Order: sequence, then C-alpha cells, then structure tokens
Amino acid sequence: MLCRFVYFIWLFFCTLAPCALQAQSALLHDIQQLSDDRMSGRKTATEGAQLARQYIQQRFVDLGLTALKADFQHPFSYRSGFSDKEGINLIAELKGCTHPDAYIVMTAHYDHLGIVAGKVYNGADDNASGVAAMLALAELLKTQPCPHYSYLFVATDAEESGLFGAKAFVAAPPVALQHIVLNLNLDMLSRGERANQLYLYGAFSLPGVADYLKTQEFSVKLKLRKRGKGLTGKHQLDWANASDHAPFRRAGIPFLFFGVDSHKDYHTPQDDWQRINPAYLQRMFDSLSQVVLWLDRQPPEWYQAARKTK
Ligand SMILES: [Zn+2]
Repeated sequence: MLCRFVYFIWLFFCTLAPCALQAQSALLHDIQQLSDDRMSGRKTATEGAQLARQYIQQRFVDLGLTALKADFQHPFSYRSGFSDKEGINLIAELKGCTHPDAYIVMTAHYDHLGIVAGKVYNGADDNASGVAAMLALAELLKTQPCPHYSYLFVATDAEESGLFGAKAFVAAPPVALQHIVLNLNLDMLSRGERANQLYLYGAFSLPGVADYLKTQEFSVKLKLRKRGKGLTGKHQLDWANASDHAPFRRAGIPFLFFGVDSHKDYHTPQDDWQRINPAYLQRMFDSLSQVVLWLDRQPPEWYQAARKTK
C-alpha cells in the first residue's frame, strides 16, 4: 500500500514536470540494450545489426510513431570498396500541428564496427547514445500538446563505412527535400563528462542559434564548433564531414550536429555503457531538449531565410 502511495505521488510530480529519473533510466536502458554483447557491435548487414533494428522498431512502436514503410525499414544499396552492399535505415514519423508539411529530420546512426580481431566493439557512446537520445526526444515531443513541426526520426545504417545511410536518405528522401527545414544529427553524446561539454557544429548554417545560446543557461557547456575549424583531438576529425549531417549540408539544408569531443575509448572495445556517467548523460539530455524545444518554436521563415543564404 505504501509503495502504491509513493508511486502515485511520483507519477503526480512526473506529470507536472519532465521526470528526470524516468528520462535518465530510459536513456541508459536504451544505450545498455543497444550496446549489449548480443548485438555484436551492430556492424552493417550482420545479425547484430538486425537485433538492433528489432529493438529500435519496437521502441518506435511503443512510442506510437508512424511507419512510412513496413516495419519502418528503408533498405538501400551502396558501393564500398569494390563490392555492392546493402544497408537498412529505419524511419519513423511524428506529424506536427502548426507546420505539418515542414519537417525536422533527426538522424542518429545505429551501426558500429562489429567484431574486430575477436573483440566486440559495443559502441555505447558511438552511437547507441545518439539513438537513445533520439528516442527520448521523440518521447519528449510526443508529450507536448502537439509539436509545431513534423519530425522524421531516422536511425541510419552504414555510417561508419562512409555515411551511406544518410547519403541514401538524401538521394531518395521520403519527403521532398524542400520540405525539410533542418537536419539535427546526433552522434556520440554521452562521454563529455570530463569538461562537462557538448559540442554543436553547424550553427553557422542557422543564423540566430549562436545568439540564442548566449542568452540561455544550460547544465552542460554548449560549445560551438566553427566553420573551417574542423580538426580536433588525436583522431583529427573533420567536423564538416564527420557524421550524417554531411549529405544534408551538401544539399544546402540547414543542419545542427551535436556530439562530444573525441575520447580515449572512441573506436575501441572499451566504448561500453558502464563507462558512461549517468549524471552527465542527464545534463546532456536536458540541454539538448532545451534547444530542440526552442527550435520547434521558430517560424518556418526563420529556417527559410537560412536556406536562402546558401
Ligand atoms: Zn559515430
């Protein structure tokens, strides 16, 4: 009885404000599941990738999102090296109410490196964390009375081998490219605990974002990566082409790429969920949510103007 009473009190407060405990456990749970050994590192076209898809598809269903094709699956072919390969993007839709024909496309790649030299590369940060954050954002947007924009949540495949899932999406988009106002790409979000930082690249493609960030308080330090300053850390990442936002950028679509800096477990078998600091994960998600809800409130002309400056 006591437990039930406490539960109802907890539920009551959760309906009043975003329930941190709930969001955090869902985020960590999704990361944990997607980076479990049984997913074998989610390499494209493996059984592990198929298990990851099944998990994400079920989460899309549970969130009440709409499939544009059977089982949310959008297969594509690509050429890598000297061979033809197959990948499968997963796409779910959430229709908005104010500007239903204008889309914000969220991307987060679910593939990773698989098993290398007998070791499983679980890719908890890269990029189970991005997929988990995308799912949590879908849940957040669903709890709004109705989002202003329509959303496509795209779990991309074959990012690690050359951004092939995102390229396939832009080459044959399920909605016309002119209806896409923004690409919001999420790749590696959970390991910024050391300096309490989260990087944002692409603000130059949307004048106004930088000014907004200056006026706000965030629980992590949101650091802008500037155009042309593409190289960082020992892995020398070129931020313009580092992840799935690149094909959208080349198509002239405004984009924002959220990610942490390169870290010692990046692309190693040690990128495990146990190394994630749950407190940082929560702060990252709170900050990300703040920006996403603000973006949802901006008028279409604001996005349109950014597009014209191309
Ligand atoms: Zn990645």
